Amino acid sequence: KKKIGIITSGGDAPGMNGAVRAVVRGAIAKGCTPYAIYEGYQGLIDGGSMMKEMTWEDVRGWLSEGGTLIGTARCMPFRERWGRLKAAKNMIINGIDALIVCGGDGSLTGADLFRSEWPGLLAELVSTGELAPEQIQGYEHLTIVGLVGSIDNDMSSTDATIGAFSSLSRICQSVDFIDATALSHSRAFVVEVMGRHCGWLALMAGIATGADYIFIPEQPPNSETWGDEMCAIVHAHRKKGKRKTIVIVAEGAIDDQLNPVTAEDVKKLLVDKLGLDTRITTLGHVQRGGSAVAFDRMLSTLQGFDAVDAVLESTPETPSPMIGITENKICRKPLVESVALTKSVATAIKNKDFQKAMALRDTEFEE
Ligand code: ADP
Repeated sequence: KKKIGIITSGGDAPGMNGAVRAVVRGAIAKGCTPYAIYEGYQGLIDGGSMMKEMTWEDVRGWLSEGGTLIGTARCMPFRERWGRLKAAKNMIINGIDALIVCGGDGSLTGADLFRSEWPGLLAELVSTGELAPEQIQGYEHLTIVGLVGSIDNDMSSTDATIGAFSSLSRICQSVDFIDATALSHSRAFVVEVMGRHCGWLALMAGIATGADYIFIPEQPPNSETWGDEMCAIVHAHRKKGKRKTIVIVAEGAIDDQLNPVTAEDVKKLLVDKLGLDTRITTLGHVQRGGSAVAFDRMLSTLQGFDAVDAVLESTPETPSPMIGITENKICRKPLVESVALTKSVATAIKNKDFQKAMALRDTEFEE
């Protein structure tokens, strides 16, 4: 009976509970034993009660719960070899040699590193007497499968990450609330949303709410002229009789000289140039909260079940897969390449090579 660990790691995202539920029940349905690892990688390092066998009933009702009920953490020791040694020991003690990790690119990078080091970690644990040679027999290979949990929708080679549509939905709902008061007082609102390297939330929220203007990291405006351009458009909308103004700013928005474009900068221009009564609303963690929307429940469930299949189909030779979705079909992508591509996109944006960033983001892998 294969034992499969499930971890949620990095930033929490609505739908992570749906993923844990699907892995737990998918594993049981396939004759495996699922283990929940609590508090991200910290649970692997601490072991004991932080690694708990899960039953079918343990995850009842989890589809509609927000956040992650098994906890998540930024775990510094897992970045160190000694931390991963402790993690490997605890896995062997519990007989676990397969991990399904639901997290962002950092978590998936850590998972793949763990897999590549695994034989060396076991050899060291045996040579230092921490484990007996018999204990590692049959556990020579670690299987890793990635699920992408991120509200930013910032992973390359998949159309949607678990949590992104829930967050988008919450942003739209919040802008609807703001709309009502903006309209009443004829005010302007600058709404700051999450997204450091990826403007998907700001872009889609702009479309879905009919915002007047948006700022995203991928399309930096001219540093000299953006203020006038934005004000001209807002002014034109006002002249047509619009009583409210909504400008959406991604937290990582920059101009073409790589200066940050902040909500404060935008507000100052709307006040100084157009004389608009302007307020800033930073949505912050509201965007992460609440229950998952239907799409994320569906995505996490289908992907969680496929992750269990991917564990059972993996061999020592197969590279670690990441479960994605492309054109509405659940698919498997190479984890290492997808993460590397995601990092290259962020680097290209940092280096001001926006065309390269866009081309990289559209890269497709053969299945
Ligand atoms: P996310 O998964 O949302 O991108 P982080 O980048 O904070 O979030 O990563 C979450 C956790 O994954 C880290 O706290 C750490 O435990 C682990 N991790 C991230 N990068 C690495 C790495 N290069 N090596 C080992 N572990 C890592």
